[in-house]
Amino acid sequence: MTIIDTETVAPSTLVVDGAQLIDGEWVPSHSGRTIDVANPANGEVIARIPRSDAEDVEQAVQAGERAFPAWRDMNATARGRLLFRWADLIEQHSAALDSLESQEVGRPSWGPPPMAGQLRFIAGQTDKVQGVSLPTYSPDVVGYTLREPFGVVGGVIPWNAPGPMFITEVGAAIAAGNTIVMKPAEDAPLTPLALAKLSLEAGIPAGVINVVTGYGAEAGAAIPAHPRIRRMGFTGSPQTGRAIMEACSRNLTPLHLELGGKSPQVVFPDADLDVAAAAIATGVTLNTGQICAAGTRVIVDRSIHAEVVDKLADAMTKVTVGPWHQKVQMGPLINGKQHERVCGFIDIGKEQGATLVTGGGRPSGTDFDGGWFVEPTLFDNVTPDMRIAQEEIFGPVLSVIPVDGEAEAIEVANGVDYGLVASVWTRDVGTAVRMTRALQAGQVGVNNALGAGVIGGPFGGYKNSGFGRTMGADAVLEWTQVKTVSMREAPLPRF
Ligand code: NAP
Ligand code: MG
Repeated sequence: MTIIDTETVAPSTLVVDGAQLIDGEWVPSHSGRTIDVANPANGEVIARIPRSDAEDVEQAVQAGERAFPAWRDMNATARGRLLFRWADLIEQHSAALDSLESQEVGRPSWGPPPMAGQLRFIAGQTDKVQGVSLPTYSPDVVGYTLREPFGVVGGVIPWNAPGPMFITEVGAAIAAGNTIVMKPAEDAPLTPLALAKLSLEAGIPAGVINVVTGYGAEAGAAIPAHPRIRRMGFTGSPQTGRAIMEACSRNLTPLHLELGGKSPQVVFPDADLDVAAAAIATGVTLNTGQICAAGTRVIVDRSIHAEVVDKLADAMTKVTVGPWHQKVQMGPLINGKQHERVCGFIDIGKEQGATLVTGGGRPSGTDFDGGWFVEPTLFDNVTPDMRIAQEEIFGPVLSVIPVDGEAEAIEVANGVDYGLVASVWTRDVGTAVRMTRALQAGQVGVNNALGAGVIGGPFGGYKNSGFGRTMGADAVLEWTQVKTVSMREAPLPRF
């Protein structure tokens, strides 16, 4: 392996241009090929990353295998302490990490990044991975379960929130004693690389976390296809999720999938409509709507329909748009493909007869011309069968669907293939109780738009939004396998 000179750094001292982190070293791809990483606000190239393939993944798997025995056997409290130290370094570098993620994703600053807190929550679980003692048929036998790591595991993550995605997947996998090979999205690989570098500074041994960069079809596909990857975690689109699951099926590799969403926002007449409209508009424009949890369908009782549309239109037009380094609320979309997709869905909405209330265009002017900008867009009179009501757009496009009463609201809310997040806006406890039970989603919020405000809530989907749960108190257990042990003092007498 060629090792790259760490003096060549850009655009942050936390990453090395043209290099990825395998076995604790900054290395190029074996082919020497690279991919440009661009700032989505103006198309400027901010860094290059290796364009890796199966051969680089093989190097990373071997590094993971070498690191595994010592990492698995380290006392769990000591392993946890290294994760806490990693969290401290992430906190110390939070401004640099925030700026790096802003540059590659194109989002304005959200304030302090959540990664240090997420990692501390996981680190606290490291020495709480416990088995159970089992009842036995006779007193000279003891039985218990051990929770053991799988070995070298794999992860593939998308570009929309690369830092938090990386921490959630990697933190839980290594806390359980696994070593990991991660493939970030080619659009936003820099924050994951920077986080991996900080893990080395924290004392997490070389080879425990390996980051292989490149395209999904090359580096990404090689991870689940690798026969010695013992478990997979994937976050991304349902289409890619299917491809990953197919690859895993060939090796009988267990996995979890965190896929897309089409989250409903059900608004009842007794809700605080000002609060609801403001939160819904913020929720669908945060990260330019590129959030799996984003509440993109407003299902509203016909009696308050016009009032809610007015309030939403007002809130959506007030969202400020611009490059990430300006004090704006919404940046550009990530790339040209995504821009084409979102604009395509806006055309489909119009063609299928939805009423365009606000937005729908591309902002123009010198701040916008080089970037992938789109206006916050509100459609009214959307029917549940329209494509904009069924398919994930992954952009700042909100659809209002009027309904008559609670039963129809539930039917429409659940009438999509997805089931990631759902919100209910009401002041009535009875409505809240019935709706939280009726909605088919992995997370339900009452009077909040993105399921915020909870520490350690398990996160994952119903239906086509995937399976498995990350982030909760047993996230680390998902990365373990159970061994039942029975032990007796002497062999059974022969009969
Ligand atoms: P994507 O196209 O599925 O890509 C996700 C990752 O998979 C990227 O790293 C991509 O690599 C890689 N990939 C693509 N094809 C692959 C293949 N054949 N084998 C292995 N890896 C492959 O998704 P995206 O457009 O980046 O992200 C948006 C999607 O992610 C949305 O559907 C969104 O809802 C979902 N998401 C879900 C959650 C959740 O927690 N449920 C969170 C965030 C996002 P390259 O891009 O580098 O080619
Ligand atoms: Mg991509």
